Amino acid sequence: MAFDKSCPGARTIREPTPEDVNCPSCDEAVEIWTDELKANCPSCGTKVFREQQPSCIDWCPHARECVGPEVYERLKSV
Ligand SMILES: [Zn+2]
Repeated sequence: MAFDKSCPGARTIREPTPEDVNCPSCDEAVEIWTDELKANCPSCGTKVFREQQPSCIDWCPHARECVGPEVYERLKSV
């Protein structure tokens, strides 16, 4: 089994880190984790979307097994 072959793209999902995104309405910094696509602004409640980088989920045939079916479905359904 090639456990060490997990791609860097999936690592941001399997080992998420928070990113600050500025709210488009009030410019408050909103923390969005790399395995989340959006968060609500704590200040004004606006839905803030993380800038999506091209994700391996979109093209990798192994993405489903790589990040796990639950996470895969969650990210695909948005
Ligand atoms: Zn806001």
